[in-house]
Amino acid sequence: MEKAVLIREDGTRVDGRRPDEMRPFRMEVGVLENADGSAYIEVGKTKIYAAVYGPKEAHPRHIAQPHRAVLQCRYHMATFSVSERKAPGMTRREHELSKVIREALESVLFLEEYPRSMIEVFVEVIQADAGTRTAGLTAASLALADAGIPMADLVAGVAVGKVAGKLVLDLSEEEDKNCEADLPVGMAPSINSIVLLQLNGRLTKEEFSEAMRLARKGIEVLYEHQKRALQKRFAAFGEVAE
Ligand code: ADP
Repeated sequence: MEKAVLIREDGTRVDGRRPDEMRPFRMEVGVLENADGSAYIEVGKTKIYAAVYGPKEAHPRHIAQPHRAVLQCRYHMATFSVSERKAPGMTRREHELSKVIREALESVLFLEEYPRSMIEVFVEVIQADAGTRTAGLTAASLALADAGIPMADLVAGVAVGKVAGKLVLDLSEEEDKNCEADLPVGMAPSINSIVLLQLNGRLTKEEFSEAMRLARKGIEVLYEHQKRALQKRFAAFGEVAE
């Protein structure tokens, strides 16, 4: 079978993007009535809801920690989120991504402010087209802010990949499936902290540095939109400080 052309002769990608261009995205905060905090994000064809409950009394009681809140996180892909029906239960991959997203969020949350309590984060992928862990993390951070849970900074994430020998920002699924390396990155930009970093494949030292530069560029754009989405949410309540 012939290999798909992922980078055209003019340097653009199959969907017409430049190597350092993100897919179109949008995000909205406070989209679910029944959760304490919520957010929705679309990145290309990827669509994700994030919902937060808490802080509330830890349940079951034996999981309670005397000096901090317990953060629980569930990343899940809906059965209809991919073209081949996905089994409804939690797969190994979903358990792994739940852990990776939880650890990324733990690094910015002030959990010690809520001893003996718990905070639950649900990341539900409605439609998957690559980049779901990073978009899920971006939405989860917004949902936590919407719930009023104090944190050192918002976090946002994007994946960088090596496709046909070239580094590209924000992989589409076609690129993700055919890439030589995939580097999902999550950052808390204002405190200059990397909260998620995984690498699938190989990169040289120089490529890694360039990939991190590209990731930061994408994350800073997402971060500005996160702040705007939160301002819009709180302006609706008339709560924006002068
Ligand atoms: P991420 O979504 O963070 O990029 P992966 O690299 O593991 O995570 O997955 C890339 C993409 O592959 C997903 O976004 C999704 O579009 C697709 N995918 C993952 N799991 C499945 C599955 N069980 N069935 C079909 N497609 C899947």
